[in-house]
Amino acid sequence: MSLYIILMGVQGAGKGVQAKFIEETYGIPQVSTGDLFRAMKTRTDELAVKVQNIMASGQLVDDDTTNAIVVDRLAQDDAQNGVILDGYPRNQAQAEFLEKHLAEKGDKINAVILLELDYFIAFKRAFGRVTDPSGESYNYYYKTDGVTIEWVDHPDNAFPPRLKATLDGSDQELKRRPDDASADAVLKRIDTFVETTQPLIDYFDGKGIIKKVDADQSIEAVTADIKTVIDELK
Ligand code: AMP
Repeated sequence: MSLYIILMGVQGAGKGVQAKFIEETYGIPQVSTGDLFRAMKTRTDELAVKVQNIMASGQLVDDDTTNAIVVDRLAQDDAQNGVILDGYPRNQAQAEFLEKHLAEKGDKINAVILLELDYFIAFKRAFGRVTDPSGESYNYYYKTDGVTIEWVDHPDNAFPPRLKATLDGSDQELKRRPDDASADAVLKRIDTFVETTQPLIDYFDGKGIIKKVDADQSIEAVTADIKTVIDELK
């Protein structure tokens, strides 16, 4: 059975980490449109530059571009038994496009897993996040063991203070995702999520395929809840 699962949740709800779990447990790849777009950051062609500018401002990429990039990804060999979609669809037009595209192949969306998280917690999870080269995440508000995280003023105060994180015992500075580093851009993503997602939740709810999971729990507890949902589908 093919498994097309949509993972929904505000920025910071843990979609990335949970998608990785589903990928490893059920053998279907994670397709994150955010990651597909971020992978364009070293390209200099017109499409890539357009996408880079849109992302830097926290806006959404237009539907036609997004749909075309997803169709291209779904056609690849590793996606033939299904995928976990993360960050797509973001609105009803994208959802209808996806349903039509899957129906043409005799497939359908099996479930929409909604990771529910309070928006203030979502802001702090995204804005406070820094990642070391191995992919381990730390957070200014929640997880500082092994790192020193501080606010550093701009020398001329021309820009807001910058969050600087250094691994203890080394002078290596950790990175923030560029789209997490601006409070405005994080807020705009949360706003966009609220505006565009509620209608989408209602839309999928009408089809009876929404499965709600509380994302304000440990990663392991969220994982266990997701496993229960998917095992029931199979
Ligand atoms: P994410 O990592 O999912 O937060 O995505 C980062 C950025 O990529 C978003 O702020 C958008 O600019 C763009 N993006 C990702 N997925 C979509 C989508 N389904 N539709 C439109 N834009 C998207």
